Amino acid sequence: MEEPNFKVGSMPYLFVKLAKPDKDGVSRWVSKNEFVGEYAPLMFQNGASWCRAESTIAKYYYVEFDKSITPGNGVDRIRLNGYKPEEERMGSQTIRADIKKYYKEKRCVILGTSNPEVDHKNGYKNNARVMSISSQKLEDFQPLSKAANDAKRQFCKECEKTRKRYDATLLGYPISWYKGNEEHDGTAHGCEGCFWYDPIEFRKHLMKKD
Ligand SMILES: [Zn+2]
Repeated sequence: MEEPNFKVGSMPYLFVKLAKPDKDGVSRWVSKNEFVGEYAPLMFQNGASWCRAESTIAKYYYVEFDKSITPGNGVDRIRLNGYKPEEERMGSQTIRADIKKYYKEKRCVILGTSNPEVDHKNGYKNNARVMSISSQKLEDFQPLSKAANDAKRQFCKECEKTRKRYDATLLGYPISWYKGNEEHDGTAHGCEGCFWYDPIEFRKHLMKKD
């Protein structure tokens, strides 16, 4: 697992800079007393909202708290105790049964082969609506063969890290992406506009070219 690409100056960015986790994502215990100067934004009273269970940093790392130094229930020290495996990082990977069934009978949108996997178009899986069974929609997903899905996963990882869309001219297409430009902000829509995000939508934009 590579170090996540936190926004410069954000809370997770600051904490990682201060805690300096090793290659496995394990850091020393960092005392609250160190949250001064450049790191002052990390200071909190009781609840440390920037490293709670739903926080960005806790999506990537196991975050541990030590409350044993001072009396009371406040957090005294925090450490990162390793990278979360991808399955866990993504939270609920669940795709509703009717959606799964629908796409299982379709063919891979890239290779045309049968018995596809059901792919989240948003490869970052960072959109709460899509990750929740009750609010996800058919069009949030697409059928991809294992081979295509494995390839997509690699390209999405790169795209999420660099915040640059995959350039489809590398595959010989006349356009690079169908929405936005090279840079994307990596927010809740992932990198919509990438070839890998939605190959069928991508091809529709090819038809519009003269
Ligand atoms: Zn992308």
